[in-house]
Amino acid sequence: MICLNCKKPYIGNHSAFCNECCDKLPMILTDLKIERDKAQAAVARLRELPDTVCIGKYTLSARGKTAIIECVMKQKILKLSEPVHWTISGEGPTAGKGIWIVRLSGCNRNCPHCDQPEKGKIIELPLDEIVKQIPQYDSVMLTGGEPLLQLDMTDVWVFLNNGNDVQIETNGTLPLKAEYPVHGVTLVISPKHTPLMMSGFGTDPRKFLTCLKFLVKDDDLVTPPERDYGIISKAEHILTWLTLFPWMKYCPVYIQPLWELNRCYRQANVRQAIKIVRDLDLKWDSEVRLSVQIHKFIGVP
Ligand code: SF4
Repeated sequence: MICLNCKKPYIGNHSAFCNECCDKLPMILTDLKIERDKAQAAVARLRELPDTVCIGKYTLSARGKTAIIECVMKQKILKLSEPVHWTISGEGPTAGKGIWIVRLSGCNRNCPHCDQPEKGKIIELPLDEIVKQIPQYDSVMLTGGEPLLQLDMTDVWVFLNNGNDVQIETNGTLPLKAEYPVHGVTLVISPKHTPLMMSGFGTDPRKFLTCLKFLVKDDDLVTPPERDYGIISKAEHILTWLTLFPWMKYCPVYIQPLWELNRCYRQANVRQAIKIVRDLDLKWDSEVRLSVQIHKFIGVP
């Protein structure tokens, strides 16, 4: 939640103000010139519109009087490429954990190695219908495609308000604007492009718990077009990223061998990934881990 007065984020005290500002409430209400009757009438009008969703109820109280203000926003329809479902997360920081997958349709890249090509069938669902399918306090992965083509931070807050911790899997070409630190959100950037395209990432990603995930292929197997789509075959390629963008210095780095149907190629990619983990371990201070796509090994979608 964002405090109505100081505009800073705060967590769950069931009012529109952070604890600090709550202590100064009568003064704040005077300063803000909140006219509660007008605010409630405006909210009532908004509630009559189709496709609106309540994102929180706020209690305003001062001088012994209390008013409940509902905060509503226009409902957003999201396009998904598969139904929301529970699975075992296979990669990155949540590997091995049970997680709800929200797979958003559409991508701004066209990677030759993509394992989630559009299947043509798109499911359109209002955001609150999606959130209703996810139990409170469970983990959610917002992925795609490229989820940031559709999502903005307001949408992510709807999941946070449901008590979910959220992992966003992005290719790092689009900004997720947030002017404040966001607790409960892990941003996993898996570059599918050259470092030049990273400039689109407008905000400072260190504000999130950010991880980097690089896809690795054996040096003899990788093709020039694949290099333009973020496939890595040497530790030096990753070091280029890490030194070009100083904030990356603080991110855990996951090294993920590209899954191949051919077993020999697959093993070659795993060997290359292990070599990169070893080389980076020697040259880089932050955490470096091997990330195999365990959902593919255990055969779950
Ligand atoms: S960025 Fe990801 S989803 Fe988009 S085409 Fe590339 S691999 Fe597929």
